[in-house]
Amino acid sequence: IKILDSRFITTAVELKGLPTDHAAEVAFVGRSNVGKSSMINALTNRRKLVRVSNTPGRTRTLNFFDVDLDRDGTRHTVRLADLPGYGFAKASKADKAQWQEMITSYLKHRHRLEVVVSIIDAEVGPSPEDLRTLDYLQEHNKRILVVATKIDRLTKAQRKPRLSALATQLELPREALVPFSSTEKLGVEEVWGTLLDTFGK
Ligand code: GDP
Repeated sequence: IKILDSRFITTAVELKGLPTDHAAEVAFVGRSNVGKSSMINALTNRRKLVRVSNTPGRTRTLNFFDVDLDRDGTRHTVRLADLPGYGFAKASKADKAQWQEMITSYLKHRHRLEVVVSIIDAEVGPSPEDLRTLDYLQEHNKRILVVATKIDRLTKAQRKPRLSALATQLELPREALVPFSSTEKLGVEEVWGTLLDTFGK
């Protein structure tokens, strides 16, 4: 897999100003600080694509990026939707409800949404918010890929048993979970390969 180009498309505030949906789209969700921005940068082969486009106070914004890839001589354009992080310890009940409402509405609007990538911390495991979001996505028949990031924080010997334990905890087959590290650029090929294989299924 070769990343040919990636670019910032737009920022939508509370679903106002969503780009037209014409390209296969992948949405990224995860609690704040899980490593979502770093992952999108790693997947787009850019150091600062996400932060550069982020406006301050970005909790209610959705950022869109397009990536052109080549796999075995076929060109694909994929749209990435960076959804706001959730699970601020400080977030009020009203904030959480608003987040939930925005996600619900986002999912309803995007007809070209192919997969939702749920990012969890390999070391910490899923938060209650992660579990709730996964349940919600499953109930609504969304295709899910769980990516366990910051895997570099575990020793090589710890990784396999940890991934098996996470799969059990999430009630997912082990293949539904991809280990990832933005700092070590681990899992980039596997995530893209899995995503492209899933499109249209
Ligand atoms: P976001 O809030 O989910 O977008 O998270 P960021 O991408 O901003 O990352 C949060 C923190 O985790 C930063 O200090 C990153 O340097 C760190 N981080 C992100 N990805 C990794 C990773 O794969 N490995 C390690 N060790 N740290 C990471």
